[in-house]
Amino acid sequence: MNWLWRLKVPAKLQHFLWLCFHNALPINTCRNHCNMVASPSCTRCSSPIEDILHCLRDCPHSRELWFRLNMGHYNNFFSEFDVKVWLHEMTKSTSSILFITGVWYAWCWRNNTKNLGSTLVYSRCGAKDLFVT
Ligand SMILES: [Zn+2]
Repeated sequence: MNWLWRLKVPAKLQHFLWLCFHNALPINTCRNHCNMVASPSCTRCSSPIEDILHCLRDCPHSRELWFRLNMGHYNNFFSEFDVKVWLHEMTKSTSSILFITGVWYAWCWRNNTKNLGSTLVYSRCGAKDLFVT
């Protein structure tokens, strides 16, 4: 785990990655297990299970983010099933800073998106320059 603390990113992102690595994010499968929510499903896309990889990578909304960041071309980006391997391999890539920022942004986006009927409403999380049109 020392590799994580050597990353040249703000401490809050290191801490966030540590939470991801230890499966400690309050995603709906964990929240459901603790009786904090009625369902483990994804509130953004209604997938029956929101696990950490679904939340950060595989949800259609997160996938859109990764394609916009042009990260889908990395080998095994969307096929790796072990979140620890995925995080570690991508933080060693030449685009590690973009990846870490993208993971953080995906988490913020998930938390700031509310499903109002069929309309997804997004409120900013401070990464306003991430999407360049
Ligand atoms: Zn989803």
